[in-house]
Amino acid sequence: MKLAVYPGSFDPITNGHIDIIHRGARIFDRLVVAVLHNSKKQPLFTIAERQRMIREVTADLDNVEVDSFEGLLVNYIHQRGANVIIRGLRAVSDFEYELQFASMMRQLDDEVETLYMMTNNQYSFLSSSIVKEVAQYGGNINGLVPTVVKDSLNEKYGHYE
Ligand code: ADP
Repeated sequence: MKLAVYPGSFDPITNGHIDIIHRGARIFDRLVVAVLHNSKKQPLFTIAERQRMIREVTADLDNVEVDSFEGLLVNYIHQRGANVIIRGLRAVSDFEYELQFASMMRQLDDEVETLYMMTNNQYSFLSSSIVKEVAQYGGNINGLVPTVVKDSLNEKYGHYE
């Protein structure tokens, strides 16, 4: 069975992430969306809230599972028995960091392959942080995130429709 892990902060999940999940789920037998618990970042949503939103928007995909992990990704990959990591690539700006990421993964375990999927053009400039920034000031985020995420953002920022 081919098992892949799609790791990230997903704070919160956007339509760009969802596009990668759909495409990844078509390639692999099983895809684990793994929410990273990063103590260096101050997240807007708790791990449980992020997982709940991802579960809700991927409920139609039978081979997608939502999990979370802390610490080194390579350890989590071993623990899950996976050998492929999926990452999304947006603009050129992602490239430098991702090159470092993939090189470090190879250094830690050269059996683990990091696979990059180019973003769908319409989501090239979409990130969780830009969505949060716009949502905070009550801007229109329709089409960028699913309704459940939009509602959770409005609730966090105290905007009610
Ligand atoms: P960040 O790395 O900005 O904290 P995440 O950790 O949530 O964002 O992202 C997880 C993965 O999803 C990364 O590989 C990232 O490049 C990818 N990704 C994020 N936004 C998009 C998008 N709009 N289109 C495609 N891939 C994306």
